Amino acid sequence: MNTPPPIPPSGPYAAPYPGPYGVPGPAPAPMCEVCGAAPAAAVTIRAHQGMVVLMRSMRRQGVYCRPCGMAFFREMQADTMLQGWWGLLSAFVTPLFLLLNLGARATLRALPEPTTWGWRPPLDPGKPILKRPAGLIALIPLIAIAVLVTAFTVLMIIGLVAGDDDTPKPLTAGSCVRNEGSWTDQDLQPVPCDSALAAYRVKDPGTDECPAGAYLADLKYSGDGTTNLCLVPLSRR
Ligand SMILES: [Zn+2]
Repeated sequence: MNTPPPIPPSGPYAAPYPGPYGVPGPAPAPMCEVCGAAPAAAVTIRAHQGMVVLMRSMRRQGVYCRPCGMAFFREMQADTMLQGWWGLLSAFVTPLFLLLNLGARATLRALPEPTTWGWRPPLDPGKPILKRPAGLIALIPLIAIAVLVTAFTVLMIIGLVAGDDDTPKPLTAGSCVRNEGSWTDQDLQPVPCDSALAAYRVKDPGTDECPAGAYLADLKYSGDGTTNLCLVPLSRR
């Protein structure tokens, strides 16, 4: 009866790395957790699955060589591109995860191809994501998000530019206005007094009070910011 051969040491924790003369050498280069190849780097790759109301996030954290890491990255990125969008919150989480994964991909791509091999061949990275159906399908929500972000930015810029013109011009006594807002939030627009739109004539009461039936214009419409101007309703004929 043959005794089985001793199992050769393998795995990331098996081989000690004694330096010359028994002095501990430099720290060993990290090895891929999956195949044992080196060089390898620590990365975190995320995946997200939206399920209308529910959602699920997955995370794979480990030390991988370039081909194994790229295999995980492409698989999880493609899954997220297909399954990530389906939910309100998921639609926000998904682009974030896709971006975070690009960071992991940058780390993996900075690694050279393995120079020393481990106990098994590395994983097959497979096709690049944009050559998979998931990559093409995900272009639709990604383009939609890009359009929304661009539109939002443009609207913000327009709002900031237009917002500069928000300070109302002081009204002059005797001119006519109409109020496009409520009386608590006035939006007084000067109009010609002979226009059908003219609703009130501006009157400077001086030291007197406004006549009966008149409204008070907001202080922001007075030239000095302290006296209330009166708005006397124009009688219609
Ligand atoms: Zn590997």
